[in-house]
Amino acid sequence: MKDVNEILDKLEELYPDAKCELDYTTPFELLIATILSAQCTDIRVNIVTGKMFKKYNTPYDFNKLSVDEIIKEIKTCGLYKSKAEKIKLTSKIICEEYDGQVPNTFEELVKLPGVGRKTAGVVLSNAFNVPAIAVDTHVFRVANRIGIVHTTTPEKTEFALMNTIPKQRWSHSHHLLIFHGRRICKARKPECGDCHIKSYCDYYKEGNDNLEKK
Ligand code: SF4
Repeated sequence: MKDVNEILDKLEELYPDAKCELDYTTPFELLIATILSAQCTDIRVNIVTGKMFKKYNTPYDFNKLSVDEIIKEIKTCGLYKSKAEKIKLTSKIICEEYDGQVPNTFEELVKLPGVGRKTAGVVLSNAFNVPAIAVDTHVFRVANRIGIVHTTTPEKTEFALMNTIPKQRWSHSHHLLIFHGRRICKARKPECGDCHIKSYCDYYKEGNDNLEKK
């Protein structure tokens, strides 16, 4: 049985500044940035939102824009048509049903267009300090490689991690696993030789890193 706290302690030593890498100043800005981050890098999203939020940064602003006007703002983010439609609809619902305030429960958030479990978790944990483990591609990959969980889908990973990690560490462990996934435990070529947690890692112990080098 792995000592998940020990692994998280090590990751905290490695990444003392681990935090959300999307730029935002309000829960609504974070919601929009997280919707835009699907299949797009945080760096690209920050470039787009850095300009866009100077002009529009409330649900009322976006509700007044047409989908085409939103597309003009976000078109370098990829999947821009569907993202623009979702941003428009979500803004309308927040204006009409929530008095312009982003809801702060998981159940309400996942009902918004474009908001899945991951986005809801990111918004809850970062904007509202509600413990949550948002599972993106990095969290899914790194947690399974290390062997903290053995799961086949992001949703199963989320529940397995919630069962394994103490609740007070949920939100921060999301950032730690992402930081490690982006910097060392990369999708195609994990840098196992330079990895400071390899002694805990099943993937490494099973020799998978050597298989990849062949
Ligand atoms: S040893 Fe390799 S696979 Fe395991 S966590 Fe480190 S980089 Fe990832």
